[in-house]
Amino acid sequence: DVRVRFAPSPTGFLHLGGLRTALYNYIFAKKYGGSFVLRLEDTDQSRLVPGAAESIEDMLEWAGVPPDESPRRGGPVGPYLQSQRLELYRQTAEQLIESKHAYYCFCSSQRLDLLKKEALRNGQTPRYDNRCRHLRAEQVQEKLDQGAPRVIRFRLEEGVEHFQDLICGRSHHEVAQVEGDPVVMKADGFPTYHLANIVDDHYMRISHVLRGSEWLISTSKHLLMYRALDWQPPTFGHLPLLLNKNGSKLSKRQGDIFLQSFQRDGVLPEALLDITTSCGSGFNTIGIGRRIDELIAEFNPSKITTHSALLDLEKLPEFNRIHLQHHIEDEEQCATLIKGLQAQIQQVCGEEMQEEVLQEDYIRRVLHLRKGHISSLKELVGPAYSYLWVRPSVSSQQVAAITAEAQHIAALVLKLIAECGEELTVDRLSKDLKTLVKQTKGIKYGEVMKLLRLALSGLQVPEGTMVVYKL
Ligand code: GLU
Repeated sequence: DVRVRFAPSPTGFLHLGGLRTALYNYIFAKKYGGSFVLRLEDTDQSRLVPGAAESIEDMLEWAGVPPDESPRRGGPVGPYLQSQRLELYRQTAEQLIESKHAYYCFCSSQRLDLLKKEALRNGQTPRYDNRCRHLRAEQVQEKLDQGAPRVIRFRLEEGVEHFQDLICGRSHHEVAQVEGDPVVMKADGFPTYHLANIVDDHYMRISHVLRGSEWLISTSKHLLMYRALDWQPPTFGHLPLLLNKNGSKLSKRQGDIFLQSFQRDGVLPEALLDITTSCGSGFNTIGIGRRIDELIAEFNPSKITTHSALLDLEKLPEFNRIHLQHHIEDEEQCATLIKGLQAQIQQVCGEEMQEEVLQEDYIRRVLHLRKGHISSLKELVGPAYSYLWVRPSVSSQQVAAITAEAQHIAALVLKLIAECGEELTVDRLSKDLKTLVKQTKGIKYGEVMKLLRLALSGLQVPEGTMVVYKL
């Protein structure tokens, strides 16, 4: 059974980097008929951000990559929140102690600080010197009896085996040569990431671990733990980094990479999924405008390369434009857009609005007329389109600036429109207008168009040259 998981820590809100990891897991699960699990790794209680846990799950749902099993949905191998699984970690740590793969460490934080300072002074990377490995059984027992504060450390053995990473190929890191024995159980009774992560992947029957490449070097450590516990490890695949277009790291401090900001700014989830996958690898063809079912169909894990994916957020309006068009063309999604737009029109235009513009039919016509041109609904309530909702006011000076023949032209055009009757279409009217101009001495086509534009929209510049709202 294919079972994959997304395992964020609720120490922050979901951003594009996280979404991408979740998305590849989701696609992998759906491609192979498996399950996609959301597990929240909240073992670092001091760094929890209030509301982040709920928000992460909300955002996955909003983005259209909902988990099959999660803290909220539950599932057969729950609970899905690590803080509710402490007993499992405790038992596993004890098992490791019994089999001598782990040991109690009583080193004080002062001692650890000194070790660190000394290493730094000598230009070395700080690492624990594994002192408590060598305590005799009676010494350990004595300290335990005294209730001395302690952690549990995992004994890192040399001789790590190679493993076959789905993406990075044959990998291996001789961790014992560079690191001290890692803490697996903290003094507060909470496990560290490494222990909780492998215990859960094991008991949640995870078959494939697809995660960011920053975890690649931890994998050898995890494999040593699997071996110590005599557990079959999952298959690993480490996804290349997602970077900014210029190669810099996506910064959580930028603020604008959080899903909530995109949602607030009217970005469609499909546009986000599309832009984060189209800059990466793993698909048989390159494309833009793809929705999740197409992404799943085109997905091919053997095509995932180790190159970093460069995200170009300046292209987001373009992605949104395409997906907005899809939404407009889908009846159900269009109905949702109409509702959203009704609210925005009321908010932006307020008192000046003409009541009838709130009618569904009218808004639907507007959407169909502008689909493919607008990249956000917000554009439609911006200045370029205000005439759609508010009757434009035009001064006689503005009219006079175009032509002295305004009255005359207006009368002729109104007559033309009346003659079109039911057959009033863009093609018909523009043909008739051209004929009218040819037959009438003294009026120019350009003037007629400027005048009409002014009368209908209150705008004086051609639409194409106007600055429209950008995402
Ligand atoms: N909790 C880890 C994180 O926040 C999970 C890493 C993993 O997928 O193993 O990224």
